[in-house]
Amino acid sequence: MADIIDGKAIAEDVVAKVKTQTATLAEHGVTPGLAVVIVGEDPASQVYVASKSRRAKECGFHSVQHSLPAETSEDALVALVEELNADPAIHGILVQLPLPGHIDEARIIQTIDPDKDVDGFHFINVGRLGTGALDSAFVPCTPAGAMLMLERVRGRDLSGLSAVVIGRSNIVGKPMANLLLAANATVTVAHSRTKDLPALAATADILVAAVGRPEMVRGDWVKPGATVIDVGINRIPAPEKGEGKTRLVGDVAFAEAKERAGAITPVPGGVGPMTIAMLMANTLTSAFRTAGLEPPA
Ligand code: NDP
Repeated sequence: MADIIDGKAIAEDVVAKVKTQTATLAEHGVTPGLAVVIVGEDPASQVYVASKSRRAKECGFHSVQHSLPAETSEDALVALVEELNADPAIHGILVQLPLPGHIDEARIIQTIDPDKDVDGFHFINVGRLGTGALDSAFVPCTPAGAMLMLERVRGRDLSGLSAVVIGRSNIVGKPMANLLLAANATVTVAHSRTKDLPALAATADILVAAVGRPEMVRGDWVKPGATVIDVGINRIPAPEKGEGKTRLVGDVAFAEAKERAGAITPVPGGVGPMTIAMLMANTLTSAFRTAGLEPPA
């Protein structure tokens, strides 16, 4: 039976460390500042943004939220981002995605100052990560959190281990693969065109699922003793809880996989809580860098 990797507990550790370091920065007269921008009324995005702002305040940050109407023009959003780029009290800028259809997301992301791009989506940060320049990169929060969970089980050096990442998105799969490579794992990236995925998955010492398909990864896809990181968050009907009720599941069939894995992340309570914690860590790092101080490891 696998060890369960507790994302809530690790996220709390990260946040506790951020709070301590924020107090250290205060001695230098610096308060980390995070600006979160949301356009429109998407309910899921509203929930995410509210919890990001709440966590930032809890960490002792200067936290600013800009909630703009859905009809905001692309130029007006660019102007706001440029204003935040120039604001010395702001060290991290996060524009909540998705944006309304009339706004070019790529243009907005590329407008963010790469040194305030705490989501790690700007080409400059993608390039830094891709070339292994991790000291200057901002790493996207979800794969950064997943790596921290993996570190608890396997340590920082993954030499000699094979990793299979299922999913090749720019926000999860690709950065995850780059992080695993930087940690010396031998990495294969699988996607919807991959042949015989179950057999490929079964070769992995480290199996990362970032697909968005409920419980797609079955127990017999898991190599005995493997570490399984389930990034997926899928809401499915749960008639057993009552009519119209739902529950969250990952991309991995947890009950089956935990019988074979050495360690596994649950859903909920796995990678999910890590994402916001890593956003706080990235904002803190940005504040340290801006102050000319060595960021915490
Ligand atoms: P995307 O939809 O952007 O990417 C999904 C990837 O899965 C694609 O590369 C796609 O392949 C691949 N894929 C789809 N179907 C299959 C299949 N049958 N076999 C193999 N590969 C397949 O999703 P994201 O990367 O944004 O998110 C992935 C999951 O992670 C989602 O459940 C999402 O909710 C969750 N998530 C969780 C976060 C957290 O905080 N824990 C944060 C972000 C995401 P192809 O490229 O060929 O289409």
